[in-house]
Amino acid sequence: MKDIAKNIFTRFEHQSDACFVVACDCHDGDHSHEIYVSRDDSLITVTIGTTTTSDLRMSRFKKIWNLLVNGHIEVTSELIMTDEVAKNYAMALLDSVDRLNK
Ligand SMILES: [Zn+2]
Repeated sequence: MKDIAKNIFTRFEHQSDACFVVACDCHDGDHSHEIYVSRDDSLITVTIGTTTTSDLRMSRFKKIWNLLVNGHIEVTSELIMTDEVAKNYAMALLDSVDRLNK
């Protein structure tokens, strides 16, 4: 992966899509977020996903089964945004960080 900023790496970059990984500051790879940006015709979508090791929505039997078979429980969570929402999301982060740094 190509390092593009502190804790942000490019997994791949093509003409119509790209994938970035945002690493957790604690350096545990299980905490990282994957950001997938794609263009389909004129629609740009951004998907942010993460995999966690526990999910309260999963039934107790399924958790036990996954634990027995795989040795761990994995659940993927995704947030899908339009380009406008993704820009607003980025701006909200920038604004918050700037305000807290004052
Ligand atoms: Zn972490």
